[in-house]
Amino acid sequence: MKEDLHLDTILIHGSDIDEPFGAAVTPIYQASTYRFRSAAHGAACFAGEELGFIYTRIGNPTINALEKTLAHLENAAKCVVTSSGMAAVNTVYMSFLSAGDHIVSTDAVYGPSRVVIEKYWSRFGIEYSYIDTSNLGNIKKAIRTNTKMLYIETPTNPTIAITDLKLAAEIAHQHNILVVVDNTFCTPILQRPLDLGADVVVHSMTKFINGHADIVAGSIMSKTEELDKIIRSTMINMGCCMDPTQAYMVIRGVKTLTLRVKRQQENAQIIAEWLENHPAIASVSYPGLPSHPQYLTGKKQMKGPGSLISFELKGGYKAGEKLMNSINLILLAVSLGGVESLISHPASMTHSKMNKESRLAGGITDGLVRFAVGIEDVNDIIADLEQALQKCI
Ligand SMILES: *Cc1c(COP(=O)(O)O)cnc(C)c1O
Repeated sequence: MKEDLHLDTILIHGSDIDEPFGAAVTPIYQASTYRFRSAAHGAACFAGEELGFIYTRIGNPTINALEKTLAHLENAAKCVVTSSGMAAVNTVYMSFLSAGDHIVSTDAVYGPSRVVIEKYWSRFGIEYSYIDTSNLGNIKKAIRTNTKMLYIETPTNPTIAITDLKLAAEIAHQHNILVVVDNTFCTPILQRPLDLGADVVVHSMTKFINGHADIVAGSIMSKTEELDKIIRSTMINMGCCMDPTQAYMVIRGVKTLTLRVKRQQENAQIIAEWLENHPAIASVSYPGLPSHPQYLTGKKQMKGPGSLISFELKGGYKAGEKLMNSINLILLAVSLGGVESLISHPASMTHSKMNKESRLAGGITDGLVRFAVGIEDVNDIIADLEQALQKCI
């Protein structure tokens, strides 16, 4: 692989591997174990003196090919892929947090990324502070002598708050704190946290990177080989490895990442502007609109505003339910980043188990709608929204 190729070329050819039949795409090596040529070969493989596969939880040709492409994509030293996005998140927590350590994290992170800290990791003595990291003063205040990790998600979901990654990383590094960024929503096409100072990036590849709503998968990209070694060893020993067929699916999906992200973003900008003038809607939160509170920070660190839109219905909870029951083309579903447009109502769905007070404090209002824009013809998406919104006025 030539190092000076452009990203879009790497997406197509980054996973090319030499194999005896010259297949045009990376084959699925669906094998759990590998035959050694001799006792000496086996010993050399285990000692790391010879490059060879031993066992698929430790390494597999299809999986390794995917890891190589993904490392290029995030400008990382190395990448480790995992069975799901949550496997990636937990592998990172397990790799760098010990009893008595403290984590500072974005309050509106992906729900389970917070739940596992509060419910499980706290049992092993991990302390935590969840704060609005889009306000850098909050980060400074939250740091303690035992803080080991700053874990940021930007933009957040569904509140779409943006944290200045460069400045946040500078604050953390002054205190020797590891900076981890969940880059699922932006993808490396729109934002490259390692270039902005982060040490480790995690992805739910279930979303944009695979992009076809047909598998779950995760990845962890590291700035240095040393960090990757720690993470890989955790992944191997915890057993959160990917399956070769899953890797093949992502290799296939990621080839069109740039095309999909661009089209989704073009659609989202048109839809967000249209929504902002709609009589059923009180407000729209989208980083491509100058009305977004961190519009300038977004412009500085993101190559584009992405394709996640939140909007507030004037009619509150009832209007939210009405809208969900009135759409035809758009799928009523959680998740995001696939080729199809998805819509959800956090108050009655993803965030319904939260008590109302903390839900409202976190910006999840009764009439808030989360919209993940797909690659369909934008006129058809708008027509579906329009007929459904008419019923909410
Ligand atoms: C979906 C998601 C995850 C979890 O990923 P899974 O693949 O569902 O395990 C983590 N972070 C973000 C931002 C997500 O959207």
